[in-house]
Amino acid sequence: MITRRTALKGIAAGLVTSGLPTAHAATAESKVDVIVIGAGLSGLYAASLLEEIGATVQVVEARDRVGGRVHTNFDLPGHPEYGANTMGSGYARTINTAKKLGVELLDYTPRLAAGSPLQLVINDQVVASDQWAESILNPFEKEKRKHMPWRLIGSQLKENPLPTAADWLNPDYSKYDIPLQDYFLQLGLTDAEIKLAWDNSPSFGTSAADVSALTWLFNNRWITEQVKIGRSQYTVVGGNQKLPQAMAGNLKKEVMLNRAVTEINTSSTPMVRFDDGSTMSAKHIISSVPFATLRNISITPTLERVQRTAVKSLQYSRVSRLFLVPRTPFWEKDGLSESMWTNGLASAIYAARFAKDNNEVTGLAVSVRGWGADRLDRLGPAGAAEAVIKQIEKIRPAAKGQLEFGDYKSWWMEPYSAGAWAVPAPGQVSTLLPEMSKPHGQLYFCGEHTAVTQRGMEGAMESAERAVIEVATAI
Ligand SMILES: Cc1cc2nc3c(=O)[nH]c(=O)nc-3n(C[C@H](O)[C@H](O)[C@H](O)COP(=O)(O)OP(=O)(O)OC[C@H]3O[C@@H](n4cnc5c(N)ncnc54)[C@H](O)[C@@H]3O)c2cc1C
Repeated sequence: MITRRTALKGIAAGLVTSGLPTAHAATAESKVDVIVIGAGLSGLYAASLLEEIGATVQVVEARDRVGGRVHTNFDLPGHPEYGANTMGSGYARTINTAKKLGVELLDYTPRLAAGSPLQLVINDQVVASDQWAESILNPFEKEKRKHMPWRLIGSQLKENPLPTAADWLNPDYSKYDIPLQDYFLQLGLTDAEIKLAWDNSPSFGTSAADVSALTWLFNNRWITEQVKIGRSQYTVVGGNQKLPQAMAGNLKKEVMLNRAVTEINTSSTPMVRFDDGSTMSAKHIISSVPFATLRNISITPTLERVQRTAVKSLQYSRVSRLFLVPRTPFWEKDGLSESMWTNGLASAIYAARFAKDNNEVTGLAVSVRGWGADRLDRLGPAGAAEAVIKQIEKIRPAAKGQLEFGDYKSWWMEPYSAGAWAVPAPGQVSTLLPEMSKPHGQLYFCGEHTAVTQRGMEGAMESAERAVIEVATAI
């Protein structure tokens, strides 16, 4: 079987034995073979693979840190994660990279199961799980009434039509490239059920109407495939950002920080221009930046129509996170769970457990998605914290005066992310995705949004392999 690694080795060996100039031989104008734009997981992994086959690589990054959407707050108790939380057992590339670099992983699974089950709160009223089916606040119909809101939708997908995750791009399944709302209605869900169980805290987009059903089916099939490999969820000891930091530290050339690319031009010698007006050239350029930010970078020659449309129109999810530091374990006073699922401003509140003791709560993370994130963003960090704390205190008086504002981050408002993850809209999976990641001359694309069989961190890593094979083949 030809694996990615054997393919890369073969390409590198071919370059040497053919007597052709290897990737080491940069042109007079360019000091490096490849410029990688973006020091998130995909950019860093692409750079390390290119170095393995002998290329000289320069990673350039707009922010003053590496990691992109893997970002840890190292100052608050329990080092909460602004972005990526956990990696599944099937994250082969991510886990292997961590192992190779001596980055220690923590099996977080027992901590996920610690504490009381998620507490349901509807219209600021606490609803016990065994009362939910009978509650007048429950808008679900018939046998669906027994499902908690965060379980309802999944429970209605009896059989995923996609045989494998990769099949979301198979034209045979393009009939599912329809609004998720319509697909949910076909599954027998009602508008009221979709509103509470999906739109209140959508995993993708701002409502079921603006997401392709294929995006959701792909995600479901991928989770099934992950679970088949194992049920463990891992985090990095001391914070997930330590992984990209180790990856950057292992590169031959130091990542250049605070270097925002504003222009890419491949019409003659490929070059990038930075926001201070300076330029850098190379033989090839890989862009790992999300399309939501790539659309602000001038690209010459102009992208082909499909690719241009994708860069301009690919949607990104709105996700905001608010960290709250509890002064006392107030949940021991009122007997409710420390973690809550609400249909109010606070949306979902999860207890983080990063102390030595699996059960100790180190902080509370409020995770808000879709229009809920937009509502909070408009209040500003301090205003959002005040409003959420007020809501929690109303729901559970024992929390009064017990919550301190830690930090707030809106991924939507971050200029170099402009969203949390890519969300192909109805019709886009079949029309844009097959074309949008193809090389454009000496410009190549990687990043989570271009992954085809994996998602999240592992998707970012997978995408880097494809881009590197494309570059290596061109070299
Ligand atoms: C809230 C949240 C929760 C998540 N939870 C999980 C999870 O639990 N598990 C999981 O697997 N995944 C999770 N993810 C997804 C995961 O974080 C991403 O899929 C992955 O980190 C994306 O990596 P990337 O390299 O594709 O993009 P990025 O990490 O976004 O990297 C792109 C880089 O490009 C840089 N850049 C942008 N514009 C420019 C420019 N003009 N010039 C130079 N540099 C630029 C950015 O600063 C960034 O560093 C989560 C993401 C978020 C936001």
